[in-house]
Amino acid sequence: MAELSDRMRERVQPHLRGIEPYDPNFTPTKINLSANENTYPLPFGVRERVDAALAATPLNRYPDPMSNSLRDELARRHGVARENICVGNGGDELLFNLLFAFGGCGRTMLTCTPAFSEYQFFADLTQTSVLDIPRDPVTFEVDAARVLDAASSCDVVVLTSPNNPTGNLIDPALTREMCRACPGVVLLDEAYMEFADASASALGLLDECSNLVVLRTLSKAFGAAGIRCGYVVAASDIIDAFAAIRQIYSVNVLTQAAALEMVKQRERFSSTVATICSERDRMYAALSEDPRVTVWSSAANFLLVRMASASTVRRRLRDEFSILVRDFSAAAGLEGCLRITVGTPQENDAVLAALDSLLREE
Ligand SMILES: *Cc1c(COP(=O)(O)O)cnc(C)c1O
Repeated sequence: MAELSDRMRERVQPHLRGIEPYDPNFTPTKINLSANENTYPLPFGVRERVDAALAATPLNRYPDPMSNSLRDELARRHGVARENICVGNGGDELLFNLLFAFGGCGRTMLTCTPAFSEYQFFADLTQTSVLDIPRDPVTFEVDAARVLDAASSCDVVVLTSPNNPTGNLIDPALTREMCRACPGVVLLDEAYMEFADASASALGLLDECSNLVVLRTLSKAFGAAGIRCGYVVAASDIIDAFAAIRQIYSVNVLTQAAALEMVKQRERFSSTVATICSERDRMYAALSEDPRVTVWSSAANFLLVRMASASTVRRRLRDEFSILVRDFSAAAGLEGCLRITVGTPQENDAVLAALDSLLREE
């Protein structure tokens, strides 16, 4: 991966000197199951409604800075008020803003790896210290006692449920205890929660936990990663803090219009989500019968799979089968692991067949 040039290293802020330009190492393939996107077509009629909304959106005016129409629809979705929601340019912007507002120099973020790598990246950008309490190396469960103990001296806690890339959930009872223990804010990243049981969400705790922030996105279940739309749900004074520091026009008019239509049509997405979940369970069943791989059960739209020669298998999937999956084998705690997004039945069959033939040879 490229590094900053020497002259740029001298000019950027000292804490940014080691930062490497992002290189997603993307190769076009026929089947892309590397980024946990939704690979299904949009539910019937949704695209037409989105297109009509986009066509009716003037481009000469600045966006509504707070995306109020969209907030109102999201508030209806979750049974909260507009004041409890802040929309961002993808969940990623909100994760950055969380650390920009509540982290920073002299502050500490607690997280449990293996986790979404953006947390560490945004902590680095904002000079927030990271306290990592690694998950169990076999089950990937968080160490509840240690986490609760450490939360009492942290400014920000970030936990992911279902976790990326391990697929397991955080028990809302633990989230409640964490909110009590932590004097700062506790963010539950629920980017994949639509694929889990409704009872697993931390949203039901918002009334009793005034320092809880729940992150959601349209990038996964709604199949709208390209429009860049995420949001947080939290107490209104937390939302005010998010609103105060955000770049005012980060959510453009086309994104607001498309997201509003999609959230209005949310019921129509339920059959695609149900299919993805049953495909996930079918893949899990097939892979867990295979003695050459270890697979973890997942509440999300992807599976973590461990095998010998994982990097070689990933490369050969790409080069010989035009299937792209994500290689995590170089990440701490994820030796030999690939993350495979659940695709359409045909895509999943292609993955299972290709894996079978490669594992015979490797
Ligand atoms: C995909 C993802 C997000 C949000 O992604 P955006 O596309 O920026 O909305 C947040 N957290 C995790 C763990 C994710 O995997």
